[in-house]
Amino acid sequence: MTDDRLLTITANCTGCGACAELQPDYIGWDEEESRPLLLTDVAPDAVVYELQAFCPEDCFDYE
Ligand code: SF4
Repeated sequence: MTDDRLLTITANCTGCGACAELQPDYIGWDEEESRPLLLTDVAPDAVVYELQAFCPEDCFDYE
């Protein structure tokens, strides 16, 4: 069972691109800024956990 959670990206982001490659249905990419873009305000628990696990800067948070 999954619960939707609010995603945020903190200012620690270094633009590595891992999140957008990992979850392209939830995370887009701003080519000009070289930064990720949230495509949704919510995502399943499993998606949030995966993003948190792979982001090297601990950028992903949820409520
Ligand atoms: S994985 Fe983390 S540091 Fe890398 S682009 Fe995404 S939010 Fe930024």
